[in-house]
Amino acid sequence: MSRHRILLVTYPAQGHINPALQFAKRLISMGAHVTLPITLHLYRRIIHLNSSITTIPNLSLTAFSDGYDDGFLAIDHTVADFNLYTSQFNSRGSGFVTNLILSAKQESQPFTCLLYTLLLPWAPRVARGFNLRSAQLWIEPATVFDILYYYFHGYSDHINNQKETTIELPGLPFTLLPRDIPSYLFTSIPSPLSFVFPYFQEEFHELDVETNPIILVNTFEALEPEALKVVDTINNLKMIPIGPLIPSDTSFSGDLLQVSSDYVEWLNSKPNSSVVYVSFGSYFVLSERQVEEIARALLDSGFSFLWVMREKEEDLKFKEELEEKGKIVKWCSQIEVLSHSSLGCFFTHCGWNSTLESLVSGVPMVAFPQWTDQKTNAKLVEDVWKIGMRVDDKMDEDGIVGREEIRKCLEVVMGSGEKGEEMKKNAKKWKELAREAGKEGGPAEKNLRSFLDDMLEENA
Ligand code: UDP
Repeated sequence: MSRHRILLVTYPAQGHINPALQFAKRLISMGAHVTLPITLHLYRRIIHLNSSITTIPNLSLTAFSDGYDDGFLAIDHTVADFNLYTSQFNSRGSGFVTNLILSAKQESQPFTCLLYTLLLPWAPRVARGFNLRSAQLWIEPATVFDILYYYFHGYSDHINNQKETTIELPGLPFTLLPRDIPSYLFTSIPSPLSFVFPYFQEEFHELDVETNPIILVNTFEALEPEALKVVDTINNLKMIPIGPLIPSDTSFSGDLLQVSSDYVEWLNSKPNSSVVYVSFGSYFVLSERQVEEIARALLDSGFSFLWVMREKEEDLKFKEELEEKGKIVKWCSQIEVLSHSSLGCFFTHCGWNSTLESLVSGVPMVAFPQWTDQKTNAKLVEDVWKIGMRVDDKMDEDGIVGREEIRKCLEVVMGSGEKGEEMKKNAKKWKELAREAGKEGGPAEKNLRSFLDDMLEENA
């Protein structure tokens, strides 16, 4: 029997499921058994696309109905829709998780601890009710955690009210501009994702209530040395870097969309470092006009490109030209693409998974953040790690960034000028450091092992 029985709870979104599954894989490789509850709709999708996931030893994917068995994440949403969905997911999810903990106890196979990703403030409460230890799996950078921590501990005016001036937060070795702050903290600016704000607020309140809270962060020491220490110094909260959590095989894939089949052959036909990979992640949908500007920038630049386009393609402008010069797919195995020798740069929205995956693969980025933590991630990519260039987000009256700006950034990052070369050199350096951190027996593994040992000791 496995020594550790871990209950791992995640919000039902691709950007949460991916690191959760990679984390499960790490835990299992260290001898743990992992139970991962998931909504029925997502369970069916994952199994449909990767049936072998059910045969992985020591992984129990277990499904519950969130009341949206035909799917929620497929519809256009308002803040009210999100709120309704999340409150339903939360009440059904917490009930299901409570029952899992109870049954495990009755079967004399109690959980060692409960681990949870973002937007689940009920998870540590449920665990406390059973005297079960919990820890958060933070799937954004440590820097974002610090910004939120400060925001909810006396700095909200400082962070929220700045217009053009810089924002300084104690312990962080760089200053921030309003454009670098996670968008959900600007509560006055409407966005469908502003629904997350009260959940973060509640989550940080839970951390205040918890004794010696632990945050397992999907980052590594060399990447954010100061940010990992900021909060330790102001209370007894402990941040432990356990990243980078990056897919290394497809057995633990939690894809919710079918991977297209023919792009690898296309990539194989391209020279080294010649292709721009374009993706805005699993959720954000670009406006038609923004798609048009990106399309024109790509075509005018002359670079080959592989573009993940989940949007409707029927009305796509310049469709024929785009298909002649590049490849458009609905979904791909991103890590496979990023590690392909033909890749020259990643034109990305800077979701944290995409940012880390690019960094681990040594691929420089053109950063075009849209919302959430993507803005902070883009700041880190451009100014701190210097592995990319951020698109100047001065927009026209419709909120669109024009083709010239996008093309200019692509040319700098793909080019052999001083700036482009420096980014490529830095990207190689970070790739090495990331591999060092994540290698077998490396710091990520050691940190996680010592966390698990502490959990066992606390339960003894
Ligand atoms: N992804 C993928 N194939 C694609 C596009 C994205 O596998 O065609 C994966 C990507 O590797 C990453 C996740 O989807 O792990 C997106 O997460 P991220 O945090 O970057 O952005 P989000 O979708 O949460 O905005």
